[in-house]
Amino acid sequence: MRVIDIISKSKRPLFSFEILPPLKGNSIRKVYDAIDKLREFDPQYINITSHHSEYIYKTLPDGTIQRVNIRKRPGSVAIASAIQNKYGITAVPHMICKGFSKEETEYALIDLNFLGVFDLLLLRGDDKMLATDDNREAYHRYATQLQEQVNNFNRGIALDGSRFEANETPFSYGMACYPEKHEEAPNMESDIFYAKEKVRNGAGYLVTQMFFDNEKYYAFVDRCRAEGISVPIIPGIKPIVFASQLTVLPKIFRSEIPEPLALELRKCKTDDAAKVVGIEWCKQQCKDLIAHGVPSLHFYTLMATDSVYRVAKEVY
Ligand code: FAD
Repeated sequence: MRVIDIISKSKRPLFSFEILPPLKGNSIRKVYDAIDKLREFDPQYINITSHHSEYIYKTLPDGTIQRVNIRKRPGSVAIASAIQNKYGITAVPHMICKGFSKEETEYALIDLNFLGVFDLLLLRGDDKMLATDDNREAYHRYATQLQEQVNNFNRGIALDGSRFEANETPFSYGMACYPEKHEEAPNMESDIFYAKEKVRNGAGYLVTQMFFDNEKYYAFVDRCRAEGISVPIIPGIKPIVFASQLTVLPKIFRSEIPEPLALELRKCKTDDAAKVVGIEWCKQQCKDLIAHGVPSLHFYTLMATDSVYRVAKEVY
């Protein structure tokens, strides 16, 4: 079933999570281990993140240096299909613009269609690739442009404008939003304007960047509703696992750590102690979100599968 149908038909707050493809050269077993651990909470869909290729410099045996393009975590398409086949759970691969060309996207869409994976999360991806891309024309700049490509694909229009047999079971998809504003957006108004564009052009739901202060999420949802965005806005949740995340998460994700949480984390002498604080905060956050009637909680599990398990055990 499609994610949007799962959400709209559900009478209870759903549990979903995202997993990362294993690092190149590693087994898919790690993915299965994470899913096996979290299956107890009846995940209705599982997202698979996507990671851009990047240039690295390799020293060759003769001492010369070669610039090579590598993808450290390949395999989102195959993993999505493997998850659906193994578990019968809807898989949602992320599609990104950065380091992932329009042409590669088209081939990925064809593969996904053949594999029966029809749900996507459309994103721009990390901006780092902008400075190093050799051929900027080959890539989309914004998630909304990627969305246009997917919409065209659904109508049977290829990248080069040629027609192919229209996708009989077109892709449906969600897109990202930011309760604390995307770092590059000049202001919240502009960020919400583009979120509204995403929905107007076909995003069935939005998933938020991680946040630790529910009030920010509630205020954001109110503002979106006032602007006419009526689709589900799924909270993205991450339990803090390491003491260093006190400063790392605000820096990388622009997610503010509320002072009561920061205070507890500052007291932690070890990561084990920080993990306990993170789990406790996350439990309270989730209970409060559920009490406010959110349709679903979407967990970021990177290095946090065990914490997510412990939170879910109490919340679901
Ligand atoms: P966009 O929607 O393109 O927005 C980027 C910025 O441009 C915003 O400031 C926005 O206001 C503005 N903007 C949007 N559209 C336009 C337009 N048409 N013209 C001008 N300005 C515009 N990254 C990964 O690399 N892989 C992943 O798997 C991944 N998964 C994620 C999952 C979730 C739920 C979230 C919230 C983020 C994820 N990210 C992932 C990170 C994401 O790619 C970054 O946050 C990225 O910087 C922005 O992505 P976006 O899709 O919101 O971009």
